[in-house]
Amino acid sequence: MKTSEAAIEVEALTFRYGPRIALRSLSLRVPSGCCFGLLGPNGSGKTTLMRLLATLLRPTEGCLRVCGHDTTEAPSTVRRCLGVVFQQPALDGDLTVEENLRLHGAFYGLWGTALTRRIDELLTRFDLQERRHELVRRLSGGQQRRVDLMRGLLHAPRILLLDEPTTGLDPLARHAFWQTLRQLRQTDQLTLIVATHLLEEAEQCDEVALLDEGRLVASGAPEALARALGDEVLWLETPEPEAVAAAVQTHFDVEARVIGTSVRVAASDAHALLPHLYEVLGARLRSATIRRPTLEDVFLVHTGHHLHATPETALTS
Ligand code: ADP
Repeated sequence: MKTSEAAIEVEALTFRYGPRIALRSLSLRVPSGCCFGLLGPNGSGKTTLMRLLATLLRPTEGCLRVCGHDTTEAPSTVRRCLGVVFQQPALDGDLTVEENLRLHGAFYGLWGTALTRRIDELLTRFDLQERRHELVRRLSGGQQRRVDLMRGLLHAPRILLLDEPTTGLDPLARHAFWQTLRQLRQTDQLTLIVATHLLEEAEQCDEVALLDEGRLVASGAPEALARALGDEVLWLETPEPEAVAAAVQTHFDVEARVIGTSVRVAASDAHALLPHLYEVLGARLRSATIRRPTLEDVFLVHTGHHLHATPETALTS
């Protein structure tokens, strides 16, 4: 076993579903205790990576280590280190909260007073004591998510995998769910791996990996990734991006890059440049926006397309 501070290490990982490549030579490291976000559009490989970490799939090439254990060589040890909360709740709606938890406890070899004590503890922490004997299908979406989270935590894992955990929740329930996650990290010193396609969720993570079409596009602290683009970014929307980019470079001697259907202008003082830009090119612009860079900008700069506008492409090799 390799000794390491890393909760998760992924090395040159490639995964294929038949001819379709879902992950391409992906390498990343998740430090222990980190809240780590996997951000990418649909089809970018987030769920596949989660399933590989959970030992439900085996790598085509490369390897993954969870708490120092290789997922292929020691899958049962890996599974004991991990709690998993998948997109679809893994609960039986026709069983009560307690019955669901007992059932899942049994999967992890928990029973008797140890299991009862753990269920009591979690019900109290998640403020669901009063719903203990309620059928799960009678709970609100947010409460069901909390029961699902409790299920994932029953065996006191060191790492929790959450795949798009707030899907289907309204903004209030989503906010409450994230508050619960933050508390969990503090009290349990858990490592959290959260797959999401939502910027606002990724921005709450300590570190994020941006995935696109199975590739790692960028990784690091969200703030640092965004700041690497400068204090501000200037985006021009225009029906003729190539011509406008060329005109900006000719007239103002600053770099202008066509990214998707937009033009990104790398000006050190975008506010001072903007009126001059309008004087020369105003008739050809639909809009110009100056803003502090976000992860969306990072994604756009690295991939040439928006996080939410990527049609899923069939990848083969
Ligand atoms: P994400 O979770 O980011 O939406 P996925 O990991 O689900 O991405 O998918 C990555 C790629 O693998 C996509 O191109 C998807 O169509 C493909 N894929 C996912 N599951 C299967 C499967 N069971 N069989 C074939 N292709 C799949």
